[in-house]
Amino acid sequence: MTRPYNFSAGPAAIPDAVLVEAASDMLDWHGSGMSVMEMSHRGKEFMSIYEEAEADLRELLAVPAHFKILFMQGGGIAENAIVPLNLSQEGTVDFVVTGSWSQKSFKEAAQFCKPHLAASAQSTQFTTIPSASSWQLSAQANYVHICTNETIDGVEFQQLPDLKALGSHAPLVIDFSSHVASRSIDWTQVGLAFGGAQKNLGPAGLTVVVVREDLLGHAMKHCPSAFNYKLVADNGSMFNTPPTYAIYIAGLVFKWLKSQTENELRGVAAMERRNTAKANLLYEYLDQSQFYENRVEKACRSRMNIPFYLRDESRNDAFLAGAKARGLLQLKGHKSVGGMRASIYNAMPIAGVEALVSYLQDFERHQA
Ligand SMILES: *Cc1c(COP(=O)(O)O)cnc(C)c1O
Repeated sequence: MTRPYNFSAGPAAIPDAVLVEAASDMLDWHGSGMSVMEMSHRGKEFMSIYEEAEADLRELLAVPAHFKILFMQGGGIAENAIVPLNLSQEGTVDFVVTGSWSQKSFKEAAQFCKPHLAASAQSTQFTTIPSASSWQLSAQANYVHICTNETIDGVEFQQLPDLKALGSHAPLVIDFSSHVASRSIDWTQVGLAFGGAQKNLGPAGLTVVVVREDLLGHAMKHCPSAFNYKLVADNGSMFNTPPTYAIYIAGLVFKWLKSQTENELRGVAAMERRNTAKANLLYEYLDQSQFYENRVEKACRSRMNIPFYLRDESRNDAFLAGAKARGLLQLKGHKSVGGMRASIYNAMPIAGVEALVSYLQDFERHQA
């Protein structure tokens, strides 16, 4: 069965091979007589699923040994509260606002700590990333928050800031929800990373947190126990019942990622090569066209989420209807910014982007 190409920003496409395997395991996982959904999270069957998923993710993302990987719930939006509850000590936290998601994080943090706006790209409608040398970092911040890929605005950090070089001794917190596993991560610059799984790792319901061990154990006293990173870590993410089925599906995605190759590259390095090629194909077409436009400064463009506009917006509905008829789904832009958005996560093959470019071309030709 071939399915349409799904450009959803999230919950997003999952590789066919993963869904096929999950379907065949549905009633009876590996001769256990149980669906994964029906297993005790502490039983040996689920523990083996959990341990493999964690080890595979650690390998894929090259997470160093002094970081814990936590499988939690609540998504990125809950982390906007959970991170300050655990790391802020009610003190100052620096935020760099580069789009809708970091702006949400900045606002939520005010309930728990003293957020300080170190830089904002709002005056450019979030089409740029302020250069790190211009950030007004606080002397005593408990951490610095950035969103490394803004899913709605389509801007992405191409490298992580070196906070020490900027005179800050605070740990860096990154919201990597929408580009985790799409490119390598320089962990020497990171204190904590969090992301919901439903963009690039699997189904909604699972939140991945990767945290440096020395940052554990500083939670505020009214931090809910189930959201206390130290308690979660000390209990192997089983302080409460983890989202078992979502972990299982994400685990299958991790195996799929490990099997991906591009020439001599494997895993995330292969995905990074492929994702770069996919994004270049789409941006090159948009940039040469008089009919469509992407407004993000070239150096800040996301490889994962590519917002674009028809210069004549009265054609939007016709564009979306035609796309759907060609098997190109969920291209409508986020309601806050309008226009279109193509999310081309790891599960999107090059052929999907080629099909999109070919549709863009045909639609343009028929309207001209
Ligand atoms: C989707 C998204 C979130 C929010 O995720 P929820 O699961 O809805 O809480 C946060 N940050 C980024 C960058 C996202 O893409």
